[in-house]
Amino acid sequence: MTTPPFDTPDSIPTARDIAIVSAQLGRPARNVIGISARCVCGAPTVVATKPRLEDGTPFPTLYYLSSPAATAAVSTLEATGVMPELAELLVDDVRDAYLAAHEAYLADRNGIEFVEELDGISAGGMPTRVKCLHALVAHSLSAGAGVNPIGDLALERATWSPDVCECVDYELVGPA
Ligand SMILES: [Zn+2]
Repeated sequence: MTTPPFDTPDSIPTARDIAIVSAQLGRPARNVIGISARCVCGAPTVVATKPRLEDGTPFPTLYYLSSPAATAAVSTLEATGVMPELAELLVDDVRDAYLAAHEAYLADRNGIEFVEELDGISAGGMPTRVKCLHALVAHSLSAGAGVNPIGDLALERATWSPDVCECVDYELVGPA
């Protein structure tokens, strides 16, 4: 798990990482500035994306879940009505922690680049709603447990785990 700046050997994207992420996404991965979480096998699980894409588009989702196995498991969670259940938890301490997660997310992104159009906008519905578990889980995987309470809970509930590799054989795709 890594948050900005992405200057550790583990978080700096290699050409091979970009090839794997492109295979995961099914399109060329662009604007990737860091690998903020990896599978136990080393494949990228969460990619960090530039707050302003090269074409000028503001991009709020700093942490993007790229692993197809993780994405599928989180989609299943969303489909089974977990979001309203998690949203009901947003009172008292959990609400406060979720607000702190929102602020941490903004601080991470603004540390890379402040984008005026995104001022105060984080991701996943933070700080008051639960809108996208993919974004919240991606935040938890990048920041580590204890930062995003809803992302942490969603990760616990998911059938996918960062400790178990479910990757396809990326050796077969893209340049090594
Ligand atoms: Zn793996």
